Amino acid sequence: MPVITPKLVQTKIYKTGQTRGADDDVIYQNRVGRNSTVLIPFQEYDKCKIAPTNNGIYENGFIVLIKPEDYFNSQTHRLLKTKGLYLGKNLLVFYETRYQWTTYPPLHTWIAANARTAPLGGQYVARVPATTEEGENKIIEGFNTSSMKGAGIRVYEYADIETIQLCKIQLEYLFWACKDIAELIEQNGIDKNLAQQRISDITKQATEKGLADKDKLRQQRIIDKNGYTICPLCLKHISAKGFCSKIQQAEGRDVPDLTITEVSLFHIHELRMGEFNHRPYNLGWGHHHCNVVVKDAGIEQTLQWMRDVIQRNDSL
Ligand SMILES: [Zn+2]
Repeated sequence: MPVITPKLVQTKIYKTGQTRGADDDVIYQNRVGRNSTVLIPFQEYDKCKIAPTNNGIYENGFIVLIKPEDYFNSQTHRLLKTKGLYLGKNLLVFYETRYQWTTYPPLHTWIAANARTAPLGGQYVARVPATTEEGENKIIEGFNTSSMKGAGIRVYEYADIETIQLCKIQLEYLFWACKDIAELIEQNGIDKNLAQQRISDITKQATEKGLADKDKLRQQRIIDKNGYTICPLCLKHISAKGFCSKIQQAEGRDVPDLTITEVSLFHIHELRMGEFNHRPYNLGWGHHHCNVVVKDAGIEQTLQWMRDVIQRNDSL
């Protein structure tokens, strides 16, 4: 991206290509590309085995995680081969509870896995939390070195590299479509001609790649009828300044401007198992607060919840 796009906007857009953060002791990688190796729970394998693009192939492969009680169950075990799942190749036994660890311990020949592509370097991985009552330590085995932390990403966060890139183009296009963009340009001393140039470049790119269909964007609650970027939940205009509130602070304001709401990436159809929702026309810019309210519930469900809350309050 050329320098004309404010640095904080560039960073925000860059981060949309990454997964959410993960703690040290979880099985997931922390903020990595959405095209990384995906982790599929065994129960969800049939639903998730086909990648959304690239002829159904995940760019960096997948690892199926099976519960020890399922792996050691003869009926389930027989299914593995028919599904093309092989321990240590594309399948690992995943220990999450102390009960699993003591009842179905790893076989003596097994070792903890440490590679994201076949061969996985082992047969199992463990993330068992410590218990305070019995004073048992946590059990963290496999994918726990600094160079190999986390086995992969949540399957529903996945997108291939091309999709990630298309989303970034559309999201930058939407940034420049903010109603108060002229004010931001003025305020940050951005060269007006260069900004105009960038707007026409990104519009051209988005149009050529079929990412600037205004009717479609409007239907998805991403822009309003005038083409301005809106928050998918509250439908208010998104302020371009909301992307850059930190810039203003850096310029010497100690007190952040509270009239400017922080902007964050918004998934119209929420990310959930069995769907691949990091894709063009499903991403917009929303208020951070609105995003928190919707969380994993989805916009429609959230609005219905709000209606119910208002109704109950009105009939008090
Ligand atoms: Zn909002």
